[in-house]
Amino acid sequence: MFITTPRYIIIEDNAIFKLPDILKRLNFKSPIVVTGKNTKKYNIFGYDYIYYSELEDEKIQGYDVVIGLGGGIAIDFGKLLAYKLGIHFISVPTTASNDGIASPIVSINQPSFMTESPIAILADTEIIKKSPKRLILSGVGDIVANITAVLDWKLAYKEKKEQYSESSAIFSWTIAEELINYILNSDNNLKLLVPKLVKALIGSGITIAIANSSRPASGSEHLFSHALDILKEKYNFNSLHGEQCGIGSIIMSYLHEKENPNLNIHKKIRDTLNKINAPTKLKDIGIDEDIAIEALMLAPKVRNRWTILRNGLSKEKAKEIIEKTVL
Ligand SMILES: [Zn+2]
Repeated sequence: MFITTPRYIIIEDNAIFKLPDILKRLNFKSPIVVTGKNTKKYNIFGYDYIYYSELEDEKIQGYDVVIGLGGGIAIDFGKLLAYKLGIHFISVPTTASNDGIASPIVSINQPSFMTESPIAILADTEIIKKSPKRLILSGVGDIVANITAVLDWKLAYKEKKEQYSESSAIFSWTIAEELINYILNSDNNLKLLVPKLVKALIGSGITIAIANSSRPASGSEHLFSHALDILKEKYNFNSLHGEQCGIGSIIMSYLHEKENPNLNIHKKIRDTLNKINAPTKLKDIGIDEDIAIEALMLAPKVRNRWTILRNGLSKEKAKEIIEKTVL
């Protein structure tokens, strides 16, 4: 098996100005940019571009690399287009809302699927600092999720003999722990947080590539998030992926700690999200208790992945857990 990991990772203010140089170094001559209407302005070198909302793959010909320039959706569509065309992908995120900026995973629809990691990532922290605060806080939710994801992975190894990589697990856990400790021990300054968050998200994406599985960064908290995504159409709310994962991590860390009282992570995860004013309660993401109970019961059915939710929870149990953790 071959593992693609990014050959260039640039995380700094004004990183975007290095794009022509990176293209040259990788010997790409005709890039196509996939972007959104609000982020097109960052296509400062005037490369051919297309909006992700207007992508018609069959019309895209004659390019040797796709550049995803924008938020999570533009990156995802760019990654998918590169995969379909069989060419490389360069990730240029304009915000830091989830670990898709570096991972090999496309999650436009569920189930998500594995493609290739970006060959280069240019994270312009100057641009990302200006992106909506809500998106940045959402990125932190996607990182604390690594903690519960790793605990679920270990559980699946123990109870179901699932394939498990200790090194990927440690890598992913450490990335989350470092960001958590940074947030808990520093002043609440979003501008200083951004480069640390971006590094964490990129590291997280790379653990997924190395493990060749989303397991190091996606467990029961992601199942809960996917369940909420399914319920969104029915109940009309619009919380973000990372916000849902953050809330999910609060719930799932509570469940893990009930079985393993020495873990000492539930309070830490909640305190971390609280400190930066990221959502920690249902009302913060605009959903009521009944929706959360439904999502928690639906979560283990979303995909075949063994987690702390095991075969599922009764309604009474789900209600009790929601009330104790996120109401
Ligand atoms: Zn995620």
